Amino acid sequence: MPFRPSARAVDSRITRIQSLIRDVPDFPSPGVTFKDITPVLGDALAFHTCIDLLAERFADEYVETVVGIESRGFVFAAALAYRLRAGFTPVRKPGKLPADVRRVDYELEYGADAVEMHRDALGHGQRALIVDDVLATGGTARATADLVGSLGGDLVGYGFVLELGFLDGARHLTGAPVMSLVRA
Ligand code: AMP
Repeated sequence: MPFRPSARAVDSRITRIQSLIRDVPDFPSPGVTFKDITPVLGDALAFHTCIDLLAERFADEYVETVVGIESRGFVFAAALAYRLRAGFTPVRKPGKLPADVRRVDYELEYGADAVEMHRDALGHGQRALIVDDVLATGGTARATADLVGSLGGDLVGYGFVLELGFLDGARHLTGAPVMSLVRA
């Protein structure tokens, strides 16, 4: 039987992850509090726990590819893909991917942004899990889900290390379950 830690052990590991997420005020611009997850990456137990818990949640979903959002999302998505024996698909800001891309534009609170994925990245009906470090307004993850859908992929869920609950970004992520390890 696989080893499963007790609920108390999981709680204490999530507390550890939470305590390692660092607030950096006024970065990248005044008034923004940046949630820096690099201390989580640097802590073996915290980093491994992130991957273990996300893998456990989606282990029975037959994930074929983990779609990672540039750039911090890549770190979690790639490790999770390995753990789930899935592939990895990058989603990047415009102009970064070298081959033919599909692009989705989306609104930000102030302005607009876009994400791109290679057109041939997903096969029809391929089961995809979207992963990023932080869920804020949900615009980026929503646009990524639209990319997955427009390329014929089958979205099985979303995984985040941190969800900024006060922004309620999850309300935009309909049609597939959302798992966030920490809510702030
Ligand atoms: P959003 O589209 O608003 O959900 O923003 C999500 C993307 O922006 C993710 O790729 C995050 O890494 C990044 N992001 C947004 N807000 C923050 C924040 N306060 N701290 C760190 N990263 C953030």
